Amino acid sequence: MAYRISDTCTRCGDCVATCPNEAIRKLPAGVRVRRELCTECIGYDDSPVCIEVCGCGAIVFDQTPWEPVAPPAGP
Ligand code: SF4
Ligand code: SF4
Repeated sequence: MAYRISDTCTRCGDCVATCPNEAIRKLPAGVRVRRELCTECIGYDDSPVCIEVCGCGAIVFDQTPWEPVAPPAGP
């Protein structure tokens, strides 16, 4: 599980610089959390720092199961 950015995001970019794992990216389509990199800030802070910095409550917990994308098979 991880966090995701909801539609209330204003694309300010504050969370991008705050994430200790560089898990948040600002893309043309919006700001996105790379779920494979998000550790929920466990061992880094008492609570997710991206949520602390987001002034509009756009970052929400996402319980949707997911599978990492497998790398392409070698030759
Ligand atoms: S919860 Fe922590 S690790 Fe996950 S995206 Fe937010 S700041 Fe990054
Ligand atoms: S801090 Fe909040 S409003 Fe700003 S880019 Fe991140 S999710 Fe969006």
